[in-house]
Amino acid sequence: MFDSFIRLVRDIYQTNDFIPLHEPRFAGNEKQYLLDVIDSTFVSSVGPYVSQFETKIAEYTGAKHAIATVNGTSALHVALLLAGVKPGEEVLTQAVTFVATCNAIHYCGAEPVFLDVDTATLGLSAQALAGFLAEFAELREDGVWNKLSGKRIAACLPMHTFGHPCDMAGLLRVCEGYGIPVVEDAAEALGSFIVGANSFDQSSEIKQAKHCGIFGKLGVLSFNGNKIITTGGGGMILTDDDELARQAKHLTTTAKLPHAWKFTHDQIGYNYRMPNLNAALGLAQLEQMPLFIQRKRELAERYITWSRQAGVEFVQEPSGAQSNYWLNALLLNDAGEREQFLTDSNAQGVMTRPLWDLMSDLPMYSQCQHDGLPESQRLAQRLVNIPSSVVL
Ligand SMILES: *Cc1c(COP(=O)(O)O)cnc(C)c1O
Repeated sequence: MFDSFIRLVRDIYQTNDFIPLHEPRFAGNEKQYLLDVIDSTFVSSVGPYVSQFETKIAEYTGAKHAIATVNGTSALHVALLLAGVKPGEEVLTQAVTFVATCNAIHYCGAEPVFLDVDTATLGLSAQALAGFLAEFAELREDGVWNKLSGKRIAACLPMHTFGHPCDMAGLLRVCEGYGIPVVEDAAEALGSFIVGANSFDQSSEIKQAKHCGIFGKLGVLSFNGNKIITTGGGGMILTDDDELARQAKHLTTTAKLPHAWKFTHDQIGYNYRMPNLNAALGLAQLEQMPLFIQRKRELAERYITWSRQAGVEFVQEPSGAQSNYWLNALLLNDAGEREQFLTDSNAQGVMTRPLWDLMSDLPMYSQCQHDGLPESQRLAQRLVNIPSSVVL
């Protein structure tokens, strides 16, 4: 199995050199747009590419508004603030995620509570969420309170792991029952859609394809160098709410009141606006999305065919979802087999990586409440990410 995997990856990428987990591809108008920005001198946070990029992302995702930021973490920070997360409160999220999800919660002065994920989606489990709330939630006039911690539960923050959509219908139904706002961490999910009812929820109301990140009150994308498209560093806040969109733009541009020459700020804002230089790169990258998605799915097909022959479990898109297959993953039999796989493949110059450490195992979040996380623990032992760069 190990040898056939190495052969497969070398055959896919057609090289005997080191094969990284994920590297960007610049095959379009990147250089042209970047030169245009330099010639214009508008390299910073004012310039036409920023609003063009926002418009194109809004069109692509179907969000009414898209607000560009310096990175996905800052987008998450502001989205959580706008969802109403305040110091001393809690946000329900998953332990299977990248650390930025939790850091953004902490930047608001709030704490994460970690709930388990579904095997089929690798995303927050609606069942785990319902179970947690049934046990710990107390409905009061001013919101939902955690009976154990005595803190208000301000928001729910599911994450679409590796681009595979969460069970949004199930999660929204639970959250709506308690009046908890949902913010989606769709950092990894540009190009991922939920197309219908999923395996857990045959009664789903989702009857037409809808992009990840536009189900909740707010959603967030990332354009970091390892994501499906990149702006170098960059992020985006998505929302259908006109007032939240206005506030998102205001907060991310130092809360400066628009004026031709005066500098007046009416609250403490953030210098989170995406520079024009980065947006130019993003616009050129976005033009290649259909190609990238097609190639990503072809790559996943090759892994699927191999995994069947090799008798290995490959993480496929959940039913009712169309994934961007941003980062491919295998589920090996146990921690021992995975350790050997990691050692072997990396020694042979094919980069593979274990699942992130569970957030509940990191020193800064180890005191946070969690629900036992049985499925997350299993995944943390068995999951390995494999090379996923687009093949051109
Ligand atoms: C990449 C990522 C982010 C943050 O993105 P940056 O642009 O690197 O700040 C947030 N959450 C998840 C799950 C991510 O994968």
